[in-house]
Amino acid sequence: MDLIGLKYIIVGAGLWGSVLAERIATILGQKVVVIDKRDHIGGNSFSKINDETGIEFHCYGTHIFHTKIEKVWDYFNQFTDFTNYQHKVLTQYKNCIYSMPINLATINQYYGLNLHPFEVENFITRENSTSQVKNPANLEEKAISLIGAPLYEAFIKGYTQKQWEIDPKLLPADIITRLPVRYNYNANYFNDPYQGLPRNGYGNFFKKILSHPNISVHLNVDYFQIRNLIPADCKVIYTGPIDRLLDFKYGPLDWRSVRFEKEVVDVVDYQGTSVLNFADLEIPFTRVHEFKHLHLERNYLETNIYPKTLLFKEYSKKYSPHYDPDPYYPINDKANNEKHQLYLKEITNTLPAFLIGGRIGQYCYWDMDRAVENALDTFENIFKKKV
Ligand code: UDP
Repeated sequence: MDLIGLKYIIVGAGLWGSVLAERIATILGQKVVVIDKRDHIGGNSFSKINDETGIEFHCYGTHIFHTKIEKVWDYFNQFTDFTNYQHKVLTQYKNCIYSMPINLATINQYYGLNLHPFEVENFITRENSTSQVKNPANLEEKAISLIGAPLYEAFIKGYTQKQWEIDPKLLPADIITRLPVRYNYNANYFNDPYQGLPRNGYGNFFKKILSHPNISVHLNVDYFQIRNLIPADCKVIYTGPIDRLLDFKYGPLDWRSVRFEKEVVDVVDYQGTSVLNFADLEIPFTRVHEFKHLHLERNYLETNIYPKTLLFKEYSKKYSPHYDPDPYYPINDKANNEKHQLYLKEITNTLPAFLIGGRIGQYCYWDMDRAVENALDTFENIFKKKV
């Protein structure tokens, strides 16, 4: 890896880092080195083909690209064509299968009713008459205000406790507003007008975005092993956890991580859908991914060609910076957000060559489109101005 005279190095070949690398290479016409300690590009969005089944899988759990941001959609479309996959999730509660996010089908099935859309609001208000919260301040209060206590107890409470291992009263309300609540039978997981999967997979999408001749990618490279070799005037665009940059001096940031149990099953179709959530607290995993349902246009359900199926059972766990390679979800409570700000402020003041970016660096619970939008905006605001 040649770092002499280098002006830009990006630490982390995830979505944010890849977009920034592409912009610097294409628009600024500058050479940029991208390093990643993993053995692949694409961060947590990476996908590849499983040798045993021939099925493409998302190495870090199902990632659906969805957005309402035109410029992000246009940007992505320069590098990949999209399938018309529309994500629909089911959830299991007490051995019955329901539609998720909560919609009229979920509500009617749960209560054994046949409510019409115009009747649901009054129904939920009546459900909430004993527990009305004026200004919902946390995840639990917010969820109850939207769907009532019984639906919250059934579909949200157990799942949330498994995923976060924190009392839902201590979690920010906006985690739950990621999920729509609908008084009709629309069972789409997302509301966004643009949605799909890269037709040739995320792996190929990332190869394309990083294919500019000004970009050189170096995998299995740990920034902390090579940082002394980076020229002093090189901009270090860092997308990893920022507490380590200052030796955890304000204490480690808290994260959730996940562990996947991989299983190949000798049936064509195991669960009939790509993601099945498990709401019961007693079932230790949160969801099961069955990847072949993400690309049915590839004839993955043809018995003769793909007789087996690949599953990932997802278990949520606490992240430890010393033992776990992968932080997934920031725990954006007040204490952690303040700690992140302390780190950021000190890095800005004492390490002027650094720019902190990405979902991990910025400690944000972003979907993929928000990461791309932020990378594009960062480029416009910080780098392009200097041309
Ligand atoms: N959630 C839930 N039950 C579900 C699905 C989601 O309670 O069946 C809650 C849970 O608190 C979760 C949040 O909704 O953290 C956001 O879910 P989302 O599917 O957006 O999470 P992600 O896909 O990012 O893991």
